[in-house]
Amino acid sequence: NRTRFISFEGGYHGDTVGAMSAGRSSLWWESFAPLMFAGDVVPFPATFDGDEDVESKEALSLEKLEFLLQQGGYAGIFIEPLVQGAAGMRMCRPEFLRAIAQLARQFNVLLIYDEVMTGFGRTGELFASVKSATSPDILCLSKGLSGGCLPIAVTMASEDIYQAFWRDESDKAFFHGHSYTGNPLACAVSVASLELLEQNPNAYQGMEKLHRQYLDKWLKNHPKLERIRTCGTIAAMDVKTESLPGYFNEIAPVLKAQFLEAGFLLRPLGNTLYVMPPYCISPDELESIYRIIRQVLDTL
Ligand SMILES: *Cc1c(COP(=O)(O)O)cnc(C)c1O
Repeated sequence: NRTRFISFEGGYHGDTVGAMSAGRSSLWWESFAPLMFAGDVVPFPATFDGDEDVESKEALSLEKLEFLLQQGGYAGIFIEPLVQGAAGMRMCRPEFLRAIAQLARQFNVLLIYDEVMTGFGRTGELFASVKSATSPDILCLSKGLSGGCLPIAVTMASEDIYQAFWRDESDKAFFHGHSYTGNPLACAVSVASLELLEQNPNAYQGMEKLHRQYLDKWLKNHPKLERIRTCGTIAAMDVKTESLPGYFNEIAPVLKAQFLEAGFLLRPLGNTLYVMPPYCISPDELESIYRIIRQVLDTL
């Protein structure tokens, strides 16, 4: 009888009606609002280096979450753990996830991690759940599963959930599937990609240190930047702008064109610049990205 879900402001989970109902990315969401399933949103305590308000932001989110859970009727909580991707690489602390996980247990509500973007090493560990020492009941995976080469996704579930559908009677079975479910070529590519990942853990575990080093060398205290943040293989920063920040900020196409002209494919999300390279990048190549960001920012 529990049919409502809780999700987070800025969350992005995909573009079907169900996924959109759990997501709130302003860009696509508003025009479809009347079609959405019922649900509630909680503020996301996005943080960055030197953020003095992080604890009060987290407390506010947790207070609202607990208030909703006390009303009852909720089936689950959706979150992009540690990093909200599409919303502009908004990062939260592992402590916040641990607090959410605790509330989910306390109120017997499913915790659903959308690790489509954060999975397979992006946060510096194989999964954000590993990095934050939390375990979701349902885990959504895609992108990095095939190294981004072929479309494939996996939804993992705890034994309890799995067993609920594992019956001899077909009326209890989980029949939902897709035309390309289990596509053999995509599976073979994923197995090959997972082998590479297993053989080269340092490619993702060691990248945060390099991001830090180059951020310090090229961009530290740059007058055009604020809210610098890193999580594993992802580094992000906001370009200070006169106009409204966000996805449609007019600085994005200007910056993108300048980077492209210099031979770099960087795609700012509004006024948020981010560096999220493939794991095969060399330290020198990574540094060259920071050098070009510095050059472009100096022309602004
Ligand atoms: C890209 C992305 C999606 C979308 O996945 P589709 O397979 O395109 O539906 C969902 N969630 C997150 C966190 C993403 O980054």
